[in-house]
Amino acid sequence: MTPLTETKIGSSPAPLVDPYGRTVDYLRVSVTDRCDFRCVYCMAEEMTFLPKKDLLTLEELETLCRRFMAAGVRKIRLTGGEPLVRRNIMQLIRNIGAEVKSGQLDELTITTNGSQLGRMAGDLFDAGVRRVNISLDTLNPEKFKEITRWGDLEKVLGGLEAAREAGLGVKINAVALKGSNDAELGDMLAWCGDQGFDMTIIEVMPMGDIGTENRLDQYLPLSRVRADLAKRFTLTDIPFRTGGPARYVKVEETGQKLGFITPLTHNFCESCNRVRVTCTGQLYMCLGQDDNADLREALRAGGEPALDDAIAEAIGRKPKGHDFIIDRRNTGPAVSRHMSVTGG
Ligand code: SAM
Ligand code: SF4
Repeated sequence: MTPLTETKIGSSPAPLVDPYGRTVDYLRVSVTDRCDFRCVYCMAEEMTFLPKKDLLTLEELETLCRRFMAAGVRKIRLTGGEPLVRRNIMQLIRNIGAEVKSGQLDELTITTNGSQLGRMAGDLFDAGVRRVNISLDTLNPEKFKEITRWGDLEKVLGGLEAAREAGLGVKINAVALKGSNDAELGDMLAWCGDQGFDMTIIEVMPMGDIGTENRLDQYLPLSRVRADLAKRFTLTDIPFRTGGPARYVKVEETGQKLGFITPLTHNFCESCNRVRVTCTGQLYMCLGQDDNADLREALRAGGEPALDDAIAEAIGRKPKGHDFIIDRRNTGPAVSRHMSVTGG
C-alpha cells in the first residue's frame, strides 16, 4: 500500500451540518464484513460474505476518511465485521492514527471482539489508538461458545490483558440476551469495576437475517436490566454524552461508568452526530434506515471532488430518526443489512 501519510487533508469542503442542524463530526467505518466469530444475534452460522472486489481497498478507505476529516470529522471509529482480521489493516490504522498525532483528528478508536488484541494491542497504541471497545457478552466459557459459536473466551481475555498492558483504555460492550446472559450482567458489571473498565449494555437491534434465531426470543428491554442491576448497585444518572445512543450512569460501588444503548425503547436521534460507511463504501446516514449513498461509485468515477459532493449531498438528507420495532408481529429484520455490514 502506498504510504499516504504525507498526503495533506487538502481543500476543505463545507462542514457537515444536516437539515436538522446537527453537525456530523463522527464517522464509523466498517472495514470488513468478515469475522472470526458468528455471534447468534449478529450473524447466521452460514454467512455469505461480500465478494472481495466489492470492498473498498485500504487506500480507498483512507481517502474516504481523509475527505470526511477535511469536512470536519474529528473522531473515527473502525469497526466491522471484525476490523482486526482484515489483511494489512494496521497500515490503514497507522496512516489515520498519524492524524491524531498531527491534531487533525481527536480520536481513532476500534470496536473489536478482542480475538486479535493479544498480538495487535501494542501496535494499536503505537499507531495512536488510545481506546478500544471490546465486545464481551459473558465470562462463562461455555456460554461464550454458545453466543459467539466460534470464539474462545480465553483468547479474548488474553487480548483484554494485552490491551491493558499496552495502555489502551477498555470499554466492554455486552448485548443483553434474554435467557442467556441476563442473569450474569450484574457479575459482569462487578468484574468491570474490579478491572477498571467502563461497560455498555446494548439492546438487541433487528438488523439482518440471523437464520433460525428469533429476535423476540433474544430481545430484553434494558429498562428491565437496569431495574435488576439497581437491586445490587447504586446507579446515579450522569449527564455524560457522546452524541450516540447511550445514556450513562455512575456505578457508585465501583466508580465506573455504565452505558445503556436502547435504540428500541428510547429515542436517541435528536443529538445524533454520526454517520456510517460500510466496507463497500455505502454511506448510511442513519443506522436504522436503509437510505444510503454510494461513495465507492463517486470516488471511483469522479475522484475526490465527486466524493466530497456525494458526501455533502447525502448529509443533506440525513433523516431525523429511525423506526426500529420488535414486537410479536415484527420479529424479522427492520433493516435487511447485518450489523456486521454497517458496523456497531
Ligand atoms: N466484531 C466487532 C465486535 O464484535 O465488537 C465489531 C463489530 S460488531 C457488529 C459491533 C457491535 O455490535 C458489537 O458490540 C456487537 O455486540 C453489536 N451487535 C452486533 N449485532 C447486533 C444486534 N443485532 N443488536 C445489537 N448489537 C449488535
Ligand atoms: Fe463478529 Fe462482532 Fe458480529 Fe460477533 S458481533 S459476529 S464478533 S461482527
